[in-house]
Amino acid sequence: MSLIVQKFGGTSVANVDRINAVADRVKKFKKDGHHIIVVVSAMSGETNKLIGLAEDMMGAPEPRELDAIVATGEQVTAGLTALALINIGIPAKSYSGHQIKILTDKAHTKARILKIDEKAIRQDLDAGNVVVIAGFQGVDELGNVTTLGRGGSDTTAVAIAAAMKADECQIYTDVDGIYTTDPRIVKDARRLKSITFEEMLEMASLGSKVLQTRSVEFAGKYKVKLRVLSSFDAYGEGTIITFEEDEKMENPIISGIAFNRDEAEVSVRGFPDIPGSAYQILGPIADANIDVDMIIQNVGVSGANDFTFTVHERDLQKSIEIINDKVKAKINAREVIGDSKIAKLSLVGVGMRSHAGIASKMFKVLSDEKINIITISTSEIKISVILEEKFLDDAVRALHKAFELEKA
Ligand code: ASP
Ligand code: MG
Repeated sequence: MSLIVQKFGGTSVANVDRINAVADRVKKFKKDGHHIIVVVSAMSGETNKLIGLAEDMMGAPEPRELDAIVATGEQVTAGLTALALINIGIPAKSYSGHQIKILTDKAHTKARILKIDEKAIRQDLDAGNVVVIAGFQGVDELGNVTTLGRGGSDTTAVAIAAAMKADECQIYTDVDGIYTTDPRIVKDARRLKSITFEEMLEMASLGSKVLQTRSVEFAGKYKVKLRVLSSFDAYGEGTIITFEEDEKMENPIISGIAFNRDEAEVSVRGFPDIPGSAYQILGPIADANIDVDMIIQNVGVSGANDFTFTVHERDLQKSIEIINDKVKAKINAREVIGDSKIAKLSLVGVGMRSHAGIASKMFKVLSDEKINIITISTSEIKISVILEEKFLDDAVRALHKAFELEKA
């Protein structure tokens, strides 16, 4: 008998019928002899609706009250899921975050889990119950309801799985796993049987928004075995997120191609090459809480410097203003240019660690396609390039084919 945590996202509990389907699935696992803990999201759209209500009441709602309001979405689905289980003869009990005591810090709307009281859960499981837990929420040491940030039910599930030493944490969503790339762009994109935590982090933060990034980090840290599956199809095996060292098979060189259309770049051009200029440029950007992704600096033969960095599209205007107002004159730059019609593409794979020549192959493929690379950056397990956005789809397709990602 194993202990399985099953987390169902918003589309999987979107209405009474979907919740009944969840209960049927849980029943099957229970009948197979497993202990089951269910973690649920709010019905899809519900959290946005609740935030909207709070904002109708107060432009920028008090975070403490906002948390009290949005935490109710998951409480409703937890109770309904327990009812659905009881309806089909499976004893079940639902709990909100503060009832089981998912203790968090005080950071309303983005709280971090500190501790989970597993005693009550253990007792219920031993008594034969399915335990249904409202995701996304906890309670601070003073008893205030907190929430974990958007998509936070994933983190609840992983934290519960870690605390209970569950054998597996299954995340049910509306896709049946992690794909080599977006199937809307590449028709023969393939579902991966497995992907490593590190690769998943690269894929997730680069736009394959299946799992909250924080939940993946958490799972990696506490060695929780994670699996992503669809609650819409029969009983597929989804994608398992593994630890590299557990792998018996050799890893593929490239696991997937991630991309992000939301990046924009800022170029500061033609300033003298003296120490401190990178800091002079990025200091005020960091002070404005703008996240910078890629950074590249070039010193031309004449000694004039060009410095380019990328930010989220929505921060482009502000970044340009900051550089124009606070930096340009100070470092004596010739011009500041912004461009939001760019996209970032990354080739991701732990196999790159032991294989040379991946970058040159990638650049050759893009060159054969006559696609210009604006910026390049690499890490041990990924190579990222910035391209003009209009070339992105072609680039993804050409690389998917060249690296034969459609083949297992
Ligand atoms: N309901 C919350 C949200 O939409 C948490 C979750 O679904 O994971 O962000
Ligand atoms: Mg989600």
